[in-house]
Amino acid sequence: MPEVSMDTIVSLCKRRGFVFQSSEIYGGLGSVWDYGPLGVELKKNIKNAWWCSVIYERDDVEGLDSAILMHPAVWKASGHIEGFTDPLVDCPACRKRFRADHLPGEGNCRRCPDCGAEIDLENNPPRMFNLMLKTFLGPVEDSSSTVYLRPETAQGIFVNFANVRNSRFRKLPFGIAQIGKSFRNEITPGNFIFRTREFEQMEAEYFVKPEDAGVVHQEWIKQRQEWYLNLGIQPERLRLREHASNELAHYAQACTDIEYLFPFGWSELEGIANRRDFDLRQHAEHSGKDLTYLDPATKERFLPYVIEPSGGVDRAALAFLVDAYREEEVKGSKRVVLGLHPELAPIKAAVLPLLRNRPEIVEMSRKIYTGLRKKIVVKYDDTGAIGKLYRRQDEIGTLYCVTVDVQSLEDNQVTVRERDTMRQDRINVERLNEYLTDKGLA
Ligand code: ATP
Repeated sequence: MPEVSMDTIVSLCKRRGFVFQSSEIYGGLGSVWDYGPLGVELKKNIKNAWWCSVIYERDDVEGLDSAILMHPAVWKASGHIEGFTDPLVDCPACRKRFRADHLPGEGNCRRCPDCGAEIDLENNPPRMFNLMLKTFLGPVEDSSSTVYLRPETAQGIFVNFANVRNSRFRKLPFGIAQIGKSFRNEITPGNFIFRTREFEQMEAEYFVKPEDAGVVHQEWIKQRQEWYLNLGIQPERLRLREHASNELAHYAQACTDIEYLFPFGWSELEGIANRRDFDLRQHAEHSGKDLTYLDPATKERFLPYVIEPSGGVDRAALAFLVDAYREEEVKGSKRVVLGLHPELAPIKAAVLPLLRNRPEIVEMSRKIYTGLRKKIVVKYDDTGAIGKLYRRQDEIGTLYCVTVDVQSLEDNQVTVRERDTMRQDRINVERLNEYLTDKGLA
């Protein structure tokens, strides 16, 4: 398996407009990233693929877009104010702050990962630090106006459980899914867009009868694993990891992570948990509202259990980029290809005039380009010689290059070059739409 380094990916992302450091001209903001022209397309395609798979291609899941700011009582009920904390210690030598559970060493004898000094956790016990970002609503900045930037999108779903069920006349089992920004004041962020302080989540809560939760949990694990594989992730770089009982969150009955082999090792892409009725029970108690479900068949009233697939858009983007990157030797020179799945490729086709100073070639190229762009994401590029233009498109994953040359003016045919095989076909312009449609693009 060819191995790509994080440096290579970070550098490609910056050079070709996938990801930039936030506020870079001011020296950057720690672990916050901006998505450039190609990154925003990639993320949009990932989110679309998820939305199709989780909502449109099923008939039992509804979409939602709840607000980032929520009533502070939500976070009390969910346990985030009390429990969403990391244990932190300061290194006595260099004064840098770390997560105690990430320090190298054993038991209470740990070492500073930066300066190597000994850290004795018995005499220097970790302090708990809440990961939620705070802000204030209204004109007065005091504790009564404190609100939080949500650390997960899930709670927006739980508090809308009854709204969605009633407005959509839903019976169990059914789910609610949403994609949106979340914020965590991570203490040890890093690895580029893997762990950041502002990120996007794709989460679904699938409500079931308690007795069905085990089976449905397994179904979701399978479905979510297949989603990554169907979008081209190499099977040997994807694995499932079941949480041991001492690792489970206190409310979870079971949890399985989908992990990807990143350049820095196996790490979590997505978690799929059986959260029992913890969240609905907490919200019912704290809000005083009845969130039980009345089974129309048995007339039994109960709180549904919930299965939660929870993934990150940014982590998925990183995995797809790493997985797609390859270098090849072609005629003695290096060719970089981003072999992204057709659904994920930011640009589907590029139209390239072979000679930009021949008005008839330019005119014909522009006509093809304006025709195609009504159907697919297509770019017009005349900023270099054809060999260079091909390489530039390969490097960003563009699926097809359509070249107009002198011959095209006579026979109305263009050259269509495919990214992975570099195979070239001469296609009549009238057939171009059909040709790309056959490839599943237009
Ligand atoms: P980790 O253990 O890596 O911190 P987690 O178990 O806390 O992750 P969850 O709370 O289960 O993560 O969040 C669900 C998903 O949201 C994760 O699988 C990941 O894809 C994404 N995610 C969570 N935190 C971050 C972050 N700081 N940056 C980017 N994505 C994140």
